[in-house]
Amino acid sequence: MSTNTESHADAYADGFWEAAEGGTLVMQHCLSCDALQLYPRRRCVTCGSSSLDYVPASGRGTLYTFSVILRNPPSDFTEELPYALAVVRLDEGPKLLTRVVDTDLETLECDTPVRCVFVRRDGKPLPCFVPIEDQA
Ligand SMILES: [Zn+2]
Repeated sequence: MSTNTESHADAYADGFWEAAEGGTLVMQHCLSCDALQLYPRRRCVTCGSSSLDYVPASGRGTLYTFSVILRNPPSDFTEELPYALAVVRLDEGPKLLTRVVDTDLETLECDTPVRCVFVRRDGKPLPCFVPIEDQA
């Protein structure tokens, strides 16, 4: 194995990215207080412990809130307009700032059931969400 000092600062997030590469969304689980959190952090936001491991999430949740971005100043994201910036509440509890993709943005509503899909950006698989089609 090579030693890459550049990625060392983010080593605590390695488990997240490794699971994402395999198509699985994982949450950080605190071994001290049992709290779940996402995105990966160095410490538990509930109790401050640094004893954290990763547990798989169902990948399902609901749209907690969102904003459809129609314009923004020149940036890396200009070509992607319009897009939906969203907070998804996973079925397991943690909330995640993300994007809703592959859907008609005009029909989005809060509380819509969504599931995780990974969208590759700059070589990294980023967790995004798509609405779950009505089974009815
Ligand atoms: Zn904790």
